Amino acid sequence: MDKKYVCPRCGNKNSRYVGVIKGKKYCRLCVSFQGKNAPAYTANLHKNHFLNLDYKLSDEQERIALKIKNNFENNVNTLIHAVTGAGKTELVYYSIILALNQGKRVGFAIPRKDVVIEITNRLKTAFPASLITAVYGGENHVLTGDIIILTTHQLYRYKRFFDLLIFDEIDAFPYRDSIILPSFLLRSARGAIIFLSATVNAADKANFKKQGGEVIELFHRYHGQPLPVPSIIQGWGLFRYWHLFWVMRLFFKSMDPVFIFVPTIAMAKKTFQFLNIFFKNGNYVHSQRTKRAKIINDFRHHHYRYLCTTSVLERGVTVDKLKVIVFNADHYLFDQATLIQIAGRSGRKKVDPIGRVVFISETISSAMKNAINDIREKNIGM
Ligand SMILES: [Zn+2]
Repeated sequence: MDKKYVCPRCGNKNSRYVGVIKGKKYCRLCVSFQGKNAPAYTANLHKNHFLNLDYKLSDEQERIALKIKNNFENNVNTLIHAVTGAGKTELVYYSIILALNQGKRVGFAIPRKDVVIEITNRLKTAFPASLITAVYGGENHVLTGDIIILTTHQLYRYKRFFDLLIFDEIDAFPYRDSIILPSFLLRSARGAIIFLSATVNAADKANFKKQGGEVIELFHRYHGQPLPVPSIIQGWGLFRYWHLFWVMRLFFKSMDPVFIFVPTIAMAKKTFQFLNIFFKNGNYVHSQRTKRAKIINDFRHHHYRYLCTTSVLERGVTVDKLKVIVFNADHYLFDQATLIQIAGRSGRKKVDPIGRVVFISETISSAMKNAINDIREKNIGM
């Protein structure tokens, strides 16, 4: 009898997903993940790493960061549920520096490419003596470094490689519904994994504890300010554009940068074309737009004053004094979690902790209502 086929790359054993080409079996689940593998695991000989932070962690961040480090040393997985703007990335810095100076391999996996680039920039500042390598679709020639920051899709290149693996935005597309990515994740880890999320649910937390991990919650933003509660402006049909115009005019007076979130790719361009008649120095981005990374980078350096965007920018992009408009906020693609993430874009930096978020829509969806209630609830007791 035929020996049962086990995919060498992803570990799939289910014959439903095994195909045959020219008499040879192959795995249909991971057939699209073809490419160079990282060199086999060796200890890292470069050990003069240091942490460079020009601000202090809050007492709560400090306490949690030490706890995570402790878990890492004891090989216990940690799940961190932290509200947007709580400064989750900083929570893993002590673990990273410890691992690096012990000659261990550190990986930082994130579902989205934009966030990979953002985190890469932040870690380059925080760990100036370390070699930081970003790996994602279109950027995968160099696979080695002291810290590898990669999209979850690139994890297949690293087999039993990371002594410390951090996995950010575990709730984000496309990981949530994938069979294959969790398998790559587990196979690339050698030691403890730290999971980070802003919107993890109670069932997942209970499950995580059952499997021996520790769940840590952090609901305070690091600058000690509450999340901005969005205000709603309702308008019928074309009146929505009228409201958009007036809110933009108001935001523009302050000279602060503005994100205008829209539900679809088509609307990103259309909304920009409308705004561009009245407001210069803007642009638009979405997942299909070429040079997206450059446009975002230019925005960060104040070459643009506003960006129309789909929820591609919902996570990870941090800009000082940002103001946020969600246009057609009642669209079904704007679910509660997305709206909360978007609201969290504003008021993230210490210079402008209040922020401003406006939902413009024809109706008030239950997602909008729930998002606002959720933000209010988390703000209570701060
Ligand atoms: Zn496979």
